Amino acid sequence: MVRVIFLGPPGSGKGTQAGKLAQSWNIPHISTGEILRSAVKNQTDLGQKAQSYMDRGELVPDQLVIDLVAERLTQSDAQQGWLLDGFPRNIPQAEKLDQMLDQLRQPCDRVILLDAVDEVVINRLLGRAVKENRQDDQEETIRRRLEVYREQTTPLIEFYNASHKLRKVDGDQALEAVTAALQQAIET
Ligand code: AMP
Repeated sequence: MVRVIFLGPPGSGKGTQAGKLAQSWNIPHISTGEILRSAVKNQTDLGQKAQSYMDRGELVPDQLVIDLVAERLTQSDAQQGWLLDGFPRNIPQAEKLDQMLDQLRQPCDRVILLDAVDEVVINRLLGRAVKENRQDDQEETIRRRLEVYREQTTPLIEFYNASHKLRKVDGDQALEAVTAALQQAIET
């Protein structure tokens, strides 16, 4: 049983690593970005509300993601642990998540900061733009997403450092080395 929050800039490899680890621990990988992309693809109510923000590289309004996470965490597969990827993205979301987890009696065990330098991140994202044809992986949007990360998400590092749950892992290494470092940071 493990409950982990993954922080890190877009392109740090968070999604890939979170997917691998969640699979090996048999817990759900909850990626708000993935849930939102699928909502956009299916043109659901949520997707229609979120799309323009995502295309511009902005955060979608807090209440939309808070509601979707609240719903996801009460599903039965999430009772044995979870790996949250891409949420929270700012202080109001983190405060709300704290309240939610208190109410659900699901305290988070670890917060992982998967860090990577801008150069690595931008190159990875540009590569992904070609491979996966993601609307928000165009260069200008990538720069905006990095700015948004710096302005709105990095304050969470201090927020979680205060609770002594934060561990930092270097995402510039090769994929397998990052996985091993993450495993160690989470399991010990
Ligand atoms: P990601 O796949 O995590 O990089 O997310 C892709 C896009 O989805 C982001 O650029 C945001 O527009 C939106 N998004 C994902 N998670 C959140 C969140 N927690 N709060 C607001 N917007 C989000």
